[in-house]
Amino acid sequence: MRNIPLSSPYFGGDELKNIKNCLDTGWVSSCGNYVNEFETKISEYVGSRYTVATVNGTCALHVALKLIDIKADEEVIAPTLTFIAPINAIKYCGAYPVFMDCEPDHLNVDIEKTMDFIKRECSWRRGRFINKKTRRKISAILVVDVFGYPVDVRPLMNLAKNYNIPIVEDACEGLGSKYFNRYAGTLGDIGVFSFNGNKIITTGGGGMIVTNNKRWAMRARYLVQQAKDDPQEYIHNEIGYNYRMTNLQAALGLAQLEQIDRFIMAKRRNAALYRKYLTGVGQIRFMAEEEPGRFSNRWLCYIHISNGDMKAKMALLSVLNRRGFQSRSIWRPNHLQRPYSKCQTYKVEIATKVYGSVINIPSDVRLQGFEIKEICNFLNRYRP
Ligand SMILES: *Cc1c(COP(=O)(O)O)cnc(C)c1O
Repeated sequence: MRNIPLSSPYFGGDELKNIKNCLDTGWVSSCGNYVNEFETKISEYVGSRYTVATVNGTCALHVALKLIDIKADEEVIAPTLTFIAPINAIKYCGAYPVFMDCEPDHLNVDIEKTMDFIKRECSWRRGRFINKKTRRKISAILVVDVFGYPVDVRPLMNLAKNYNIPIVEDACEGLGSKYFNRYAGTLGDIGVFSFNGNKIITTGGGGMIVTNNKRWAMRARYLVQQAKDDPQEYIHNEIGYNYRMTNLQAALGLAQLEQIDRFIMAKRRNAALYRKYLTGVGQIRFMAEEEPGRFSNRWLCYIHISNGDMKAKMALLSVLNRRGFQSRSIWRPNHLQRPYSKCQTYKVEIATKVYGSVINIPSDVRLQGFEIKEICNFLNRYRP
């Protein structure tokens, strides 16, 4: 049976050669040259001074939040519409998310509403910038480049500076995307990437913390290696984590990074072809075009079902998947997830609607033009 994948890894370079080198030399774990080399290469690629590689993106997010010293009972402003990983990372620190809405065009956090929340619902109390409702300190703003589209960070950056709140950018989906010529991952104070199997490049599982702040970078390196103060005498003055990337992962990552330009070109071509073939006259509308100054890696493409609801969405998903066009729902907004259902939300309206009407469609780097045409022919004629 035909199966056109949503997005699957492609190994077309030196992957096997690098892995074999790990096996031949015995450097398979957290020591070895590939890890350092991979960090340097990502640094150079995104134009960030420091990088620290980790075993996955979720633990990179955890450490990123640790770096800005978030304590239990503090709060992080975060989008409700994202994969749950960054929200869990907030909770790993004992802190609380405050959920913001998304904007309807690119599904990134609604910057206007977020700025509104900061200006209207927060204030200074005894040198702390707090949420007036909960009286908890606002410690960070977390933004996400949803499906690779770079978040409109500029207006938020100025405001965040005024209140001295650091911005953590979850760029797990956005490697290679740009915002006015700055790479995703470097748009906030700390950025995080994931190299999970379905991401733009993969290390099997893997992650990276990027920053220009040397103190944070050194601290991240310390925390991900069990906070080892003296390797000879086994002295640990803090509680660290076993989060360091392995040489095997980095070996894969280096080979993948060499191919990233081709991957992004293929992803962007997918988006362009969908845009060309989807007429928009039926029930299906393709995702919005890029705004000026944005360059998206177009990691995953998506469509909106007009007047959609959960039932319509699930019905379309099941027809698409039956036909071998591997598709999936957008994430359930996090304020609807059981562990976070009691967390504060601020004017969340769009995200809930988007959940009922947006699905990801095949976005693989090997997708053929005729396959996209076939998917579009089906979607153009689709009537729920
Ligand atoms: C994939 C992803 C993560 C988590 O990365 P892992 O490497 O799977 O832990 C976090 N945030 C977003 C937005 C992601 O897409």
